[in-house]
Amino acid sequence: MTKYFGTYGIRGKLDMFTPEFALRMSSAFGEHIKGGKVLLGRDARLSGEMLEHAVIAGLLSSGCKVTNLGMVPLPTLEFEIKKLSAAGGVMITASHNPPEWNGLKFVDKNGIGVSREEGEGIERIFESGKCRKAEWNNLKKVEDYPTALEEHMDALRKTIERRHILKESPRVVLDCGNGVASLIAPKLFKEFGCRVTTLNAQLDGSFPGRNSEPTPQNLQELMKAVVALKADMGIAWDGDADRVIFIDEKGGYIYGDKSFALSVDIALRQRKGPVVTTVATSNAVVDVANERGGSIEYVKVGGPYLSRRAKELNAVIAGEEAGGVIWPEVHLGKDGFITSLRILERMCKDGRPFSSLIAEIPSYYNSKTKLECPADRKQAVLKKFRERVRGEGRINCMDGVRIDFDDSWVILRASGTENLMRIFAEARSQKKADELLRKYKRMVEQLI
Ligand code: MG
Repeated sequence: MTKYFGTYGIRGKLDMFTPEFALRMSSAFGEHIKGGKVLLGRDARLSGEMLEHAVIAGLLSSGCKVTNLGMVPLPTLEFEIKKLSAAGGVMITASHNPPEWNGLKFVDKNGIGVSREEGEGIERIFESGKCRKAEWNNLKKVEDYPTALEEHMDALRKTIERRHILKESPRVVLDCGNGVASLIAPKLFKEFGCRVTTLNAQLDGSFPGRNSEPTPQNLQELMKAVVALKADMGIAWDGDADRVIFIDEKGGYIYGDKSFALSVDIALRQRKGPVVTTVATSNAVVDVANERGGSIEYVKVGGPYLSRRAKELNAVIAGEEAGGVIWPEVHLGKDGFITSLRILERMCKDGRPFSSLIAEIPSYYNSKTKLECPADRKQAVLKKFRERVRGEGRINCMDGVRIDFDDSWVILRASGTENLMRIFAEARSQKKADELLRKYKRMVEQLI
């Protein structure tokens, strides 16, 4: 078990996430990758500048050279790692968490996030305090690199055809959530020929406009704006702009599994091949992949697992249900800008309302719950559950226990950070999903 690392990096409130902590952890990361050029970026949080100095000190002390991109979206940093042949990267961000939080996402030389397992190695160095210390006459420098945003945008301009969007000039409302999406989205979408209205597009680390996570509750203003302005689409990013959520022209919130399924459809029309997703993803994605001649490859829940498997398999696309999609043709991190431009391009090419594209994605209903369970009981509960459900359907134990039936499934997973077990059921009707959940919830309650 890791003490600090979650599915992608470390997050915490500032009482835990002090500059001292950031310095020592960055130094441990520098030791882990054995020095070299490290790219540094940060999101718009108020504590970002303070932590930036600490991270720089930690990296330099372990013999790394630092290339500072400044305030950038996470996908910009991940993209630049390959381009600049860096040994790794550090992003100072707490993704969609509240403004009083901050964190570190560590990235390897392939632009792939450091997973929980790799984080264990970094934690061991951190705990032991045994970091190489660069000699006084061998300390490396910090260089600023102000062109990262422009270079990332350039890659997007080259990847996505502008003519369809230019021809239709759709009206879009962009909700940047006062985060680093503001640095790219308004400019890029105007350039692509959209009629742009922005919400919360001023960088402000106190996130005055809305909470950073693009949930239905947090995007009420965007939904209203799309309807009031008769816009064709609303688009919202999370705090570090790797995830993106869409609103259709009727003001309806489109869940991430639907936009991912649509992305899979778009990608597989260009090239056939593997589609990587997590064991917690909707069958809507599986159906679309099967129909378009793709094959589904499951991984554990977490961005770094998606990226790593996508690289291994030379996958066409990878993604998860919360609105994070990887387009490996550009880089191996989730990129909310490519996702939004690709979907916009498809809408304009087809000349149809966004809602009608979404209506073609198969509909599934889900039901979920969580049960309290002591940390030391979690593995035993999973093991017993696996034995109990043997023969009930196709079993996948990659991450928790998933049971697949003909057109429905259930998964039991242990929370990585809290004393909880989570159960999720998906079926063709709400009634069926609720029934499945009730049945397995009872079983898990007994086991706990
Ligand atoms: Mg994020």
